[in-house]
Amino acid sequence: MKTLLWKEEVRTLLVHLINPNEFSFGVGVITPRWLYVLAAATPAKYGDPIVADETLEPFDPARLNPGDVVGIGIHTGNAWRGYEIGRLCRNRGAWVVYGGIHATLYPDEAHELGAAHAVVKGDGDIIWSSVIEDCDRGIPQRIYDGGKIPASGFLPARWDLMPPKSYMWASVQTVRGCPKHCSFCSVWRTDGQEPRQRSADTVIPEIIQLRRLGYRYIALADDNFYPVTLTDIALAQRQKNHQREAELLALRADRFDLMDRLSQLPSDMVFFTQITMEAAEDLEFLDAMRKAHIRGALVGVEAVTPEGLKAVYKDFNLAGDELAERLQTFKRHGVHVLGSFIFGLPTDRADTFAATAALAKKAEITFAQFVMMTPFPGTLDFTRWEQEVGESIDRVQGIPLTRYWLIPGDLRPKLFIPHPTMLPDEIRKRTQEVWNSFYSLSEIWKRAHCVKSFKSRLAFLGISKLYQQMYANTGIATDSARRKSATRWARWLARPCQRLFQAKPMPGLTFPASVQPVAVSGIPVNFDPAS
Ligand code: SF4
Repeated sequence: MKTLLWKEEVRTLLVHLINPNEFSFGVGVITPRWLYVLAAATPAKYGDPIVADETLEPFDPARLNPGDVVGIGIHTGNAWRGYEIGRLCRNRGAWVVYGGIHATLYPDEAHELGAAHAVVKGDGDIIWSSVIEDCDRGIPQRIYDGGKIPASGFLPARWDLMPPKSYMWASVQTVRGCPKHCSFCSVWRTDGQEPRQRSADTVIPEIIQLRRLGYRYIALADDNFYPVTLTDIALAQRQKNHQREAELLALRADRFDLMDRLSQLPSDMVFFTQITMEAAEDLEFLDAMRKAHIRGALVGVEAVTPEGLKAVYKDFNLAGDELAERLQTFKRHGVHVLGSFIFGLPTDRADTFAATAALAKKAEITFAQFVMMTPFPGTLDFTRWEQEVGESIDRVQGIPLTRYWLIPGDLRPKLFIPHPTMLPDEIRKRTQEVWNSFYSLSEIWKRAHCVKSFKSRLAFLGISKLYQQMYANTGIATDSARRKSATRWARWLARPCQRLFQAKPMPGLTFPASVQPVAVSGIPVNFDPAS
């Protein structure tokens, strides 16, 4: 192993893993899982990696030494900040490596603007150790391709490295990939359309480790927790495609097996996931979710009209009253919905905003997010936009809008694709009004009756307001003073909210009899940091 002579001291390189973020709130809502998975993928001989999540605090470059390896994970939203950190680290003599969806799509950009020595495309779970070894030998490759690894290669995270009392929710992944093909989403193109499901024997021990540490709220950070629908199975049967039918039934059986094992965990545990609306047709599945303590799910509603759904290739969703009824079905079966809506679709009109706000209330969803149409790289929408505008694209400080993530935050427009009938600022203001209406104190208090005690209702109120500050007021506001004020509010609200999510550790919690924990890549999944 290469060592460095530094003031006559022999030192081994350290590995730093950095999640860039423009705003720091002191406390995070959901743990960025990739940090702790790559920590697990780091060879033991390099010691424990230093993990820096800037949603908590800004990265401290003083911890860096020449020869260290820095892994920076970027998506389009934090690429600009990531490149800033990369340049800083390279100036200090560190090896700079990028990964994540944005680096996968734009590896050359990470080299040109982020001072990369190397870029990892695809899944990092397996290839990360080779990248570090190569840096250690001083010969990193320009690009590594981690590909799409099978579910049996997904690593459990090093939860023992998570700073205590920093997150409200931990995150565990049970399936990667989604068979749908929504036009605004890159998941099906980057993670693939074939669901890669982890076995319950690797998922449950990770969850038990988290409960031992005092985490009872866990996000199942899946692309789509319901990858096989009843319609898919019926279609395979109609086509007499017996092999496909058997595959789908096996995937479905694995989901039920996982949920059955989750149901055997302590009853105070609460899971949250991401799912398509079609799950509401499958009452057996919804009931299994409730039994498995899956109390909430993000459901991509996107649009409330048939035209809007067609525009985003999501016509498997329902619209109008049927949509409200379907969303209520989740709640009736014990699964609260965080509904996600998009504004700025070409089919939207001025009255779409009020209609969406009314639908969100009628459908009795517990939380909602209203995002403005953004063409993300890797999506069909982005490809189409880039082809349509060609060289005639508008520029800000010389940067084409089709590279909007490189425009400094304060100068970056909020909408990029011209709308046929509304100006960008009208869409922005109307979107903000819908957030304000859905998260007004009176509306939150009405929804707070979904929990029983007065204390729980107060907690619900605090969390709703925190959500609004973190996601609406920092993301939609155009002036930096308002964004800074939202960040201050979020920081102020985040700490007490985190305490509400914290549970008493259960160091003695054992595995249910049905679980046969297995090691993945030599990492013991029943690792107990307390012992
Ligand atoms: S938006 Fe959801 S359902 Fe559509 S492709 Fe992406 S993950 Fe799948």
